[in-house]
Amino acid sequence: MEVALEQPAPRSLRALAEAAPKSEKVNLFDLDRSGIEALFESIGEKRFRAHQVMKWIYHRHVTEFVEMTDLGKVLRGKLEAVAEIRPPNILFEKDASDGVHKWLLGMDGGNAIETVFIPDKGRGTLCVSSQVGCGLNCQFCSTATQGFNRNLSTAEIIGQVWVAARHLGNVPHHQRKLTNVVMMGMGEPLLNFDNVVKAMSLMRDDLGLGLANKRVTLSTSGLVPMIDRLSAESDVALAVSLHAPNDELRTELVPLNKKYPIAELLAACQRYVSRRPRTSVTFEYTLMKGVNDQPEHARQLVKLLRKLPSKLNLIPFNPFPGTRFERSDETTIRAFQKIVLDSGVLATVRRTRGDDIDAACGQLKGQVLDRTRRQQMFRDKLQQLGGERVA
Ligand code: SF4
Repeated sequence: MEVALEQPAPRSLRALAEAAPKSEKVNLFDLDRSGIEALFESIGEKRFRAHQVMKWIYHRHVTEFVEMTDLGKVLRGKLEAVAEIRPPNILFEKDASDGVHKWLLGMDGGNAIETVFIPDKGRGTLCVSSQVGCGLNCQFCSTATQGFNRNLSTAEIIGQVWVAARHLGNVPHHQRKLTNVVMMGMGEPLLNFDNVVKAMSLMRDDLGLGLANKRVTLSTSGLVPMIDRLSAESDVALAVSLHAPNDELRTELVPLNKKYPIAELLAACQRYVSRRPRTSVTFEYTLMKGVNDQPEHARQLVKLLRKLPSKLNLIPFNPFPGTRFERSDETTIRAFQKIVLDSGVLATVRRTRGDDIDAACGQLKGQVLDRTRRQQMFRDKLQQLGGERVA
């Protein structure tokens, strides 16, 4: 397919995002079912009216109260006075040749984030962001080079799903084109716990997107106490960005490992699945040439995962400008997979999708007004190393 729009220059992106309307009204995208019910009670309306409005928003993609024809005029007037339905502002969108679709969405404060839809046989997966940028500094991650700005609101998280669902003509329970959501875009979702959990509840609510629990996946880099909190407060599929089979290497690639080493992380995963019989944890492992892709790494990995109900998702590294890592070659990837499979651990190799629009997970960019100055540090470091191509 062809590129739909040309990406505007960064300065005009910022101007566009900052020009987004600000409002004192409650954005209904910020409220889950209980929040919308409470709002309706506060204006003297019955719960079922709240449910009608949710269906208009999430099943019919209507954002104007005046178009909600089964609501009386008086109620519509009350809602106009206190609430609005304001989705993220689409700054830019385009298709890749393999059907992958990417949006650049403007967020309050002049930031922009990316959201990617990946169609596959019988399923359509949306990769959703939880923060503007990320502060965790994983060494192989494109988002990390941009630094961190802020957490996304519930409206900004569920809004990504709503924009995609509207684009696809998705109708929950009838015409389901969006079948899975992965919280795997920009940011560490467990560092934005409340907003992420609320948005994930809307994804699973029958009056929202109506997805089954197992079709909403939260991917974490390993915040152990928050995995336990998630286990107690929500019921979604868990994925863990592992990327290394021993603490020495993982601490180098995922600095958070210093605080929560592999043994503690796997113990938290075990607790998570023990509360949910017949579920497993997906471990993501990005294969980087000569770094973590050798047979001994595969054997170490098997020892870690053998006793845990788990699946291993092997991801060929997707190079981005300025990175020091390279993608493992096909033979090495297949040899790695074979060692794991032969040991009885389920392992798949993720096909790289959306290459022509930089849509792979870990490659989501957007525009981050960096509060941590990480991007400048990254550029300085590259310059010291003699790097020429900087993101
Ligand atoms: S891999 Fe995830 S947690 Fe690590 S820096 Fe990138 S976005 Fe953050």
